[in-house]
Amino acid sequence: MSARILIVEDEEALSLLLRYNLEAEGYDVDTVARGDDADVQLRERIPDLIVLDWMLPGVSGIEICRRLRARPETKALPIIMLTARGEESERIRGLSTGADDYIVKPFSVPELIARVRALLRRASPERVSDVLAFGDIALDREKKRVSRAGREIALGPTEYRLLEFFMERPGRVFSREQLLNGVWGSDVYIDERTVDVHVGRLRKALNRGREADPIRTVRGAGYALDDRFGIEAKSA
Ligand code: CA
Repeated sequence: MSARILIVEDEEALSLLLRYNLEAEGYDVDTVARGDDADVQLRERIPDLIVLDWMLPGVSGIEICRRLRARPETKALPIIMLTARGEESERIRGLSTGADDYIVKPFSVPELIARVRALLRRASPERVSDVLAFGDIALDREKKRVSRAGREIALGPTEYRLLEFFMERPGRVFSREQLLNGVWGSDVYIDERTVDVHVGRLRKALNRGREADPIRTVRGAGYALDDRFGIEAKSA
């Protein structure tokens, strides 16, 4: 699962250049050219990081930044602000409105990519780490191996992806539809009950004897990795 980056930049050539290079790094990239369009897009979908130009038509970058920081769900969203040379005093304003980092134009693409990587690593280490851990469960993405309390767990490919999906977002409740979209893909038609079948198989593979079940069934809502499990199993 790669990180999604939103580029808000009205200089088309720069926007294309960034998109091309970030996609080459494996990120999913969206671009918008206007501040008001960014506002609309950010209400529908929250990216993992935003590259935000300072001067934009519609709504300014600084205003978008301020609005993002005011919303609980985007309060911690990593923001890299792009500013033109000579806006030094404004740069300081940029940081005081909550941008995590800023880059002065013109900049080198490798520099921007390095900053993106550093910010993402800080914000969501699970996106760049090869081994995910939750309680006594470990999932090694490189070796495609899962273990619980040190013993190897054999999983089918779907159960593996399902567990990885959960472990990237511990505690969050997902509806069956969200799980279908996230694990199977949105272009596949599968009955929602299929999710129940695979969650059942995953549980069976993970839980031995009287071990606690890491997966919580939320009635009427879906499934989640149980936050409390993560804490208890770790301290046990
Ligand atoms: Ca601009």
